[in-house]
Order: sequence, then structure tokens, then C-alpha cells
Amino acid sequence: MNDTTRTATTRARKPLDRELEIALRKVFGFPNLRPGQDEVIRSVLDGNDTLAVMPTGAGKSLCYQLPALQLDGMTVVVSPLISLMRDQAVKLIEAGVATAVINSTLSTTEERAAMDAVTSGEIRILFVTPERLVNAEFTATLTGKNMPAVPLVVIDEAHCISQWGHDFRPAYVELIHAIRTLGRPPVLALTATATPSVIDDIVRELQMRRANVIHTGVYRDNLHFMVEQLTNPEEKRARAIELARTLEGSGIIYCATVAECEALHAALVEAEVSAERYHGKLAASARSEAQDAFMADEVRVMVATNAFGMGIDKPNIRFVLHAQVPGSLDAYYQEAGRAGRDGEPAKCILLFELKDKQVQQFFLGGRYPNAETIRRVGEAVRDLARENESQTLDKPLERLREALPHVGANKLRVAATLLNDMGVTRRTRRGGMKLIDDGKAIIQLDIAAQAYASRAERDRAVLERMIGYAQSARCRWRMLLDYFASDAEDTRALQAASKAEVEYQAPDDELAGGTCGSCDNCLHPPEVTESPREVREHAMSQERSNDDAKPKRNVQAFNQGDRVRVRRYGEGTVEMVSGDRVAVRFPDDETRTFIARYVKRAA
Ligand SMILES: [Zn+2]
Repeated sequence: MNDTTRTATTRARKPLDRELEIALRKVFGFPNLRPGQDEVIRSVLDGNDTLAVMPTGAGKSLCYQLPALQLDGMTVVVSPLISLMRDQAVKLIEAGVATAVINSTLSTTEERAAMDAVTSGEIRILFVTPERLVNAEFTATLTGKNMPAVPLVVIDEAHCISQWGHDFRPAYVELIHAIRTLGRPPVLALTATATPSVIDDIVRELQMRRANVIHTGVYRDNLHFMVEQLTNPEEKRARAIELARTLEGSGIIYCATVAECEALHAALVEAEVSAERYHGKLAASARSEAQDAFMADEVRVMVATNAFGMGIDKPNIRFVLHAQVPGSLDAYYQEAGRAGRDGEPAKCILLFELKDKQVQQFFLGGRYPNAETIRRVGEAVRDLARENESQTLDKPLERLREALPHVGANKLRVAATLLNDMGVTRRTRRGGMKLIDDGKAIIQLDIAAQAYASRAERDRAVLERMIGYAQSARCRWRMLLDYFASDAEDTRALQAASKAEVEYQAPDDELAGGTCGSCDNCLHPPEVTESPREVREHAMSQERSNDDAKPKRNVQAFNQGDRVRVRRYGEGTVEMVSGDRVAVRFPDDETRTFIARYVKRAA
């Protein structure tokens, strides 16, 4: 598709401010746009590839709905959640906007009816799942004779494209091929997650051209942040229960692990608090039942891991409590920000115990493959690719899993991505992996290993910022705004390094350097301002004395770095000890967790 055609298909019908305003009021019932929305809409109507980083509740959907009504043709919206697209479609249809939904839950008859409506040219907004849009047969139908033009493709929850994030959806990576088949119209990517590496991934994987990255405001004056320092898990759990009982209205309690989620939920039910639970180890049916009950206000409190949240659109959440510290301020802000979407006051409370930092360090340890694993994956790719003339692996992850059965699936995927990023291999249209640069492969792998190490380093720094927030005497909002501002600087540096064409705009400092006046530190300034280091040392000495006072629960007490033996897996090294659980890393680079009594000290 050449540039002339692109301009023709993206020209707004009548890009008049007045017309936008009328649509805003008449169709959507809003008197005016919120900060940021305006800029995103303008960028989209100007035909730019746009990445909008907007916090939960900032009115993301209006950013594509309003342009969709102004553009000729049918806007395609990719959404990862069927329930979410259904809700959006119902609202749009009620507002009189011709909308269709295509996903795997439709019957043959329903799907035919939807496609007929699309063919007739009356549909303005079409919602599809990523899996459907990357289906070649489906895109062929969309580009068939007499089909409406697609002036805009919207990628909702665009962070699902990032293989570093926990919401990774493989179909997202293939979206660019579908977008090209549709004539490469402008793309609007929407996300609430703003880490530089995620932004970089989105821009690169969607091959955005001169991407206009718009970071809308962060500050929300109805959110009251506070941190409570606690010294042991029992005390913390008791405090969580007390808060859940006394705080009014609907609330979420986030835990870092499934085990803590289960334990806290059981304790809340015991204390007669109306509570449900949500985490990745529950069956899908149990998860959606729990979610429905919470959304319908049938239960008051949801105890959840970070699996709960994407697409949660509940306006009246009055508190978000963190029973364990999350791994980054991004994650914390995103989760805490689910409170008070209706604009009414809401509390965001972090119950902080320094020991919880270890849980996050533990997650970090398992995230990336080490240099040795990257090298082995690289060699396996080379050997497998040489088996055929085209030097291409079809179904690369399956082939690699067969070749390297001891490397975990996640690390394999990360290593394969690194090889692509380093130019050792290239992703083919059909999802294959083609060997490109055999000669330099070994040098490239060293670079890849370094890239991995610097990512790991960055993750550690990000965790330190989170811990710093928890232990600080400064205004909590001030710290959040500063964090997102420095995040913008990092992004700029990153974009300079990757030479991507990105226009990056930092979020405004809505407090203009001032403080919020409503967080715990603003309302009750600590009398002595300790430096974070002093606080940390103090907390650590407290932690130590607690440990000394408590009788050892296990006869076998393990320490990090101990050599141990587990019957089924052989010898390994202790990575973390938490209560009666011991996490052990084995020579296959996998970390497995056991109850301490099943772990023996190596002879
Ligand atoms: Zn404050």
C-alpha cells in the first residue's frame, strides 16, 4: 500500500471540532473531553500511528469511538477479552452506533448475521479477538470485493504484545501481518501500562511509523495513598482483616502469591467478611463466577493476585489494599488505580513488610534465561535451521521444546525473542523462525546475554523504587508523579538506543512539583525524616530480632545458597525460603518450590 492510498483512506469525513463536540454530547452524553483524550483523538484523526498510555478510568474507549464516527469505513477494534468487547458493543448499540462483534462464542448463524452486516457497509465499529483477526481466511473476507475500507485499527490492551509482561498473548505478535493485509491503515494502540520496555515492544512489534506516544495524566485527586509498616505475616494478615471489616464499600485485596491469596481469603471468610477470591490456579468457571459476584456487588471484597484486573470496569471500588508489595510502582499504580473510578474518594493502602521484597526478588530470578541458556537455544536454532534449505524452523517453539526439554517454556520464548531482536533470526509471516546471520551468531549471542542482564538489572532497580516508595516519608503522589516522569526519560533514552521513530511526550506534572495534601505522609508528616537507607537498616534489624525471638518451625532450616537434594529432581541450590516453603533452583535452570520437610541437605 503506498502513501497516496493511505492518505485517501484515512482522511476524516469532516474533521471539524464542532462536529466532534456534537458527537461527544449527543452520542456519548459527555459535556467535554478529559485531559489527554483530546490529544489522542486529534492524533488519530490526523492519521498518525498513536500509542496512548492512559490510566484506568481515563476514558480510553472514547479515544477510538469518537474518531470511528468521523472516519469513512469501518474501524476494527482488537480486544483480548470477550466479556469486555460485549459490554462495549452493548453500550455503543444503545447509543445508536452500528456495531458488530465477532468472536469464538458466536453460533454459526450469529456469525453469518454479523458478517452480513459488515458486508452491507453499515457497521462503523467491529470488535474482534486477536486470534480471529490473525486468521488469514478472516482477513481475506474483510478485504474482499465491495467490503468497507478499514480506516483505523485499534489495539486495546496493547501491552499483551509484550513478551515481558504477564498478560502476553501470542496472537498479538501476529497482528502486524493482518494490519498489512488490511492495507496498513493507521494504528491506535491503547494501554494502561507504561514501562519503557513495554512501550518499546508495542512500537516495534506493531511496526508503528513515527509513533505518537501520548501519556495522559497520572494524578487523581480522589485517591488517598497510605502505607502501613508491619513486621510479620501474622500481624499483617490481622491488619488486612481489620481493614476489610472496617472500611466501607467494595474493595480489592491484592496478594503477590496464590498461597497468600488462598490463606487470606480463608481468614476473611472465617472473620465473616463477604469475600471472594481470584487467581490463575482456579478453573476459568470459578474465576468468572467470583468476578461476576464482585461486579454485581453480591460480595464486597475480592482477594486476588494480579491475574485479576485487566478490563475490570467497576466504578465504585472504595479501597484497594495490597497485602504484599508488588514488583514495581507501575504495577502498584495500575492495581491501586482500580479504586474510585467514579471520582468519589477511595483509599489505596499498602501493608508493607520488608520480607515481602524477597517474594518479588524470587519472581525476578525466574524471569529471564541466563547466558548459558541463550547460547544453548541459539545453537539449537542453528542446528535445526540447517536441516532444511530455507534455513527456517516452522513452529519454532515446539521444535525447540523437543530439542531442549529441560529449558522452561517461558525462558525458551524469551530466548527466542532475544534471538529475533538481535537479528540472529527473523520471524516469518507464518510464524516460523528463519536463521539470518549465522556467521556473527556467536558474537550476537553475547550481546543478547548482555541485553538480558541489563533488563534484569533494570527490573531490580524498578523493585528498589517500589521499596523506596513503601519506606519513604515523602508525599506518596509526589513519588508516583516523579516515577512516571523519570520513566519518560528512560523511554527517551531507550528510543534513542533502538533508533525507533517515536515521538514521546512525558505526562504533565499535575501537582506542579507540589504535594497532594491527602496522603498519609502529607496528613501526618513523620517527626523524624529518616533516609531510606536508615529505614531499611532499621527494618532489617527488626526483622532479624523477630527471627531470633521465634522458635524455628522446621528442624531443617535452610539458607539461600545451601546445596540441597530433592528426591525426584536431584541436587540443587536454595533460592529462597519463605515460612515452610523452600524454592530450589536445579541444573536445568528451573526453580521449583517444596515444603521444607521434603528437602534434604546435600551430603
Ligand atoms: Zn501527599
